[in-house]
Amino acid sequence: MTERVLLALGAAVLCGVVVGSQERIDTDMNWRIRQEATTNSQVMPTLHRLTDVYGPRLTGSPNLEAAGRWAVDQMEAWGLTNGHLEPFDFEHPGWSNERLSVHLVSPATDALVVEALAWTPGTDGPVRAEVYHLTLPTRLTGGELDSHLDGVRDDLRGKVALVGEHAQVGVTMTGPARRREDAQLTQQLNAPPPGPASGRGGRGGRGGGRGDPAAEDRPLTAREVETRVAAFLLEAGAVARVNDAGRDHGQIRAFQNRTYDVNQVVPTVVMRNEDYGRIARLIAFGSGPVKLELDIVNRTHPEGRTVHNAIAELPGTDLADEVIMLGGHLDSWHAATGATDNAIGVTVMMEAARILAALGVEPRRTIRVALWGGEEQGLLGSQAYVKEHFGTAEEPTAEHATFGGYFNIDAGTGRARGVQVFGPPEAGEILRDVLAPFRDLGVIGARTTSSRRRGGSDHTSFNEAGLPGISVQQDPIQYGSYTWHTNLDTYERVLEQDAIASAISVAAALYHLAMRDELLPRFAPDAMPRLPPRPPAR
Ligand SMILES: [Zn+2]
Repeated sequence: MTERVLLALGAAVLCGVVVGSQERIDTDMNWRIRQEATTNSQVMPTLHRLTDVYGPRLTGSPNLEAAGRWAVDQMEAWGLTNGHLEPFDFEHPGWSNERLSVHLVSPATDALVVEALAWTPGTDGPVRAEVYHLTLPTRLTGGELDSHLDGVRDDLRGKVALVGEHAQVGVTMTGPARRREDAQLTQQLNAPPPGPASGRGGRGGRGGGRGDPAAEDRPLTAREVETRVAAFLLEAGAVARVNDAGRDHGQIRAFQNRTYDVNQVVPTVVMRNEDYGRIARLIAFGSGPVKLELDIVNRTHPEGRTVHNAIAELPGTDLADEVIMLGGHLDSWHAATGATDNAIGVTVMMEAARILAALGVEPRRTIRVALWGGEEQGLLGSQAYVKEHFGTAEEPTAEHATFGGYFNIDAGTGRARGVQVFGPPEAGEILRDVLAPFRDLGVIGARTTSSRRRGGSDHTSFNEAGLPGISVQQDPIQYGSYTWHTNLDTYERVLEQDAIASAISVAAALYHLAMRDELLPRFAPDAMPRLPPRPPAR
């Protein structure tokens, strides 16, 4: 959509917006927000900075630290104040990959497509070794796995271990979902509330699961198998490990060694499914010897134990002690530049704040941007921030009472189609009213949740503490199918007009929440949903 069309559509709906709305809507401000967003957009320069200049922003890495420092400076240059970095303890060193090449050297020579697994060691210069395909029967008990591994121990010494069966990835015959249907969204977002708040905090613990976790005759969980295999490969003297990415069209999702300790695993790469299949077939057909050469340079960064959330504000006026927040996570995985997860989310929130600053608004409440670290390792930055500033519903700090909502965006490049808020039905109605003027940009409405379950993204750190986390609901575009956590998550996959549209509706919703007489309604203490039980740690 061109700027002119956006503006024209905006003008077309202006006359009708106040009808049926309980909230006072500042149509003049909404118009100015649209104009600033479309004529002076900083979306693509910001995205370029975060993705192309800083690159992958793994938690604890120098890249993330540099991107956070830049974001604070940039927001101050746009007129925000109180820009600073707030530290939290990551409890692990940072890690980065500097060089990586894997080649097939026998029976033919070819470059192979891989990504390093984070928090694994590099090789000590190029290493050449024969490949051994280590397959594992499923549903093994601990004893069965140990005897299986004992039987192959001598075969692995000095070899590259190809771990696991080659995943047979079928040809996709249907296209991925791209935009959500209006009718379906209207039903999801604007359905009448389901009766009085039940105080239901989600389903209880997982019953009927795998039985007694201590029993020796139960099958191991995937996590337990992984832990044992990793220790075995190190002890057996394998020189490196190759995992199958298991996705089509060369997509690789490379996560991490869960111990965060490079001394506990062998050098490990995740190989695209097509190359992994080729190697597995060369071995299966006896077309060997099959040899690889790997050259991996990884670094650990001790200073990365301290990670920072990047903060800046538009100061409030008569209600300055009350705070409305917005943000997203600045950290990313390392296999690409994290454009849709979540540089574009950060960009949209920085842009929403920039628009309000550029318009010289004087919000009654303080508007605060927070760009989190450590989201991908378990919402660590937002968890630390909420704990320190707000406490919990059960043990609140003084700031807990004056908190007016946190907008979070973290689902790719797709435009905002609505929001979900943790709170009573009245909170949903207010958000529905303030978002109604943006129907032309695809914004359909708002719904509420009473779940305090942590997970998904940073708004749940607020929900968990009984605070109104407001999660922006977006069009999926190619998020689940191609870009989420993959090596394909780059600048090219971002839709500029979608990001501009999201920044407009977020800026307007923020503005209206910052200006209304009352804070966004929250669950009263006696109606606060209970915290769900924590699943047992395995
Ligand atoms: Zn994310």
